[in-house]
Amino acid sequence: MNALRYEDARRRIEDGIVAVSGDESVRLADALGRTLAADLVSPVDVPAHDSSAMDGYALRAPPANAPKPLRLRVVGGARAGHPHRGPVGAGECVRIMTGAVMPDGCDTVVPWEHVEVAGDEIAVDALVSRGRHRRPAGENLATGALVLSRGRRLTASDLGLAASIGIARLTVVRRPRIAVFSTGNELRELDEPLAVGSVRDTNRYALIGLLTALRFEIVDLGIVRDDPDALEAAITRACVDASADAIVTSGGVSAGDADYTRATMERLGEVSFWKLAIKPGRPMAFGHVTVAGHRALFFGLPGNPVAVMVSFHALVRRALLKLAGGAVTALPSLVVVCDAPIAKVAGRTEFVRGIAFATADGWHVRTTGDQGSGILRSMSDANCLIVLGHDRGPVDAGDVVEAWPFEGLG
Ligand code: AMP
Ligand code: MG
Repeated sequence: MNALRYEDARRRIEDGIVAVSGDESVRLADALGRTLAADLVSPVDVPAHDSSAMDGYALRAPPANAPKPLRLRVVGGARAGHPHRGPVGAGECVRIMTGAVMPDGCDTVVPWEHVEVAGDEIAVDALVSRGRHRRPAGENLATGALVLSRGRRLTASDLGLAASIGIARLTVVRRPRIAVFSTGNELRELDEPLAVGSVRDTNRYALIGLLTALRFEIVDLGIVRDDPDALEAAITRACVDASADAIVTSGGVSAGDADYTRATMERLGEVSFWKLAIKPGRPMAFGHVTVAGHRALFFGLPGNPVAVMVSFHALVRRALLKLAGGAVTALPSLVVVCDAPIAKVAGRTEFVRGIAFATADGWHVRTTGDQGSGILRSMSDANCLIVLGHDRGPVDAGDVVEAWPFEGLG
């Protein structure tokens, strides 16, 4: 069988995914990273009133032919939260601070630098253009304006924006529940002794970190032995006890291991075992399982810790965002100069752990060194994946490459 191209695998995974159903209302402070379930429309103007954009004097702009300098009497003061009460007539002005409500009768602010003060009188020599330094009501958001669209994954500034229009709760899509387990007879829990040949279960913690950053609900099903009954029991727990929307596992999908996994999957659902034309992360299983009428997506990732993280970033992340009901956003993609050669063969997409860094002439990237797929340290050192497309050959120093920053992204 020919290996499946990266782009084809991605399409096959994403095409069949339907967003989870069910909405819930959450407090604004709990809404970060959640998917908005309905358009948010502003019930008010923000700011609610015309206000000053500068410290200075609020006045009514004089006619263009008025004599210079303009002399005005100061009849009061206005600060943010402390408006000037009462009208301001011709020949009058109010000392005003940034953010204060524009007094009745005023349409313009003259910054204090352009004003000479003598007692309770000011003289303005500068040109006064009507409306200058005034923030109109609704400048930020007008009543009835679409503030945030359905499907938006809420950011910190979105929470601020919702707060600015007085929204205390938001209706969001239910969080997808993702069950996670690791397979392998050699794997040990953190509190178990390590016998010769056994390995700490690393992948589950890395996956939990990746899923937590995306704000999914996680069901941790621990370590599962390489045994069809144990595997079936774990999938049953995920579907029946936890009502998981998706199951993400690691290990047991490479050629040597796949047989017992495949037999179980054939009994429980439809899962394809793929050979992908990517590095790292060549083997992967994808499909769905159904137990007692509950259906869950199934992502069987490879066992090597780096391969797990790379296949998550490259293939699983977007699929789960689609499951979460939100816009499917790719990782950002930068075009950067690669400072050292990279051996690459055409015929597969390679994801190389990279460190992108700023220089005086723009962004550059270098690799984290040894790219063995068991070397998780190199993933920790990296802040991006250098993505070398299917048909690309070797990279020379100074070549331009694509890099996907992944660290620091939710
Ligand atoms: P597998 O795909 O199951 O053949 O595993 C490939 C390699 O990854 C083996 O060396 C495993 O010991 C290792 N591995 C598999 N699962 C994990 C895990 N959860 N944590 C750390 N290493 C693992
Ligand atoms: Mg294994």
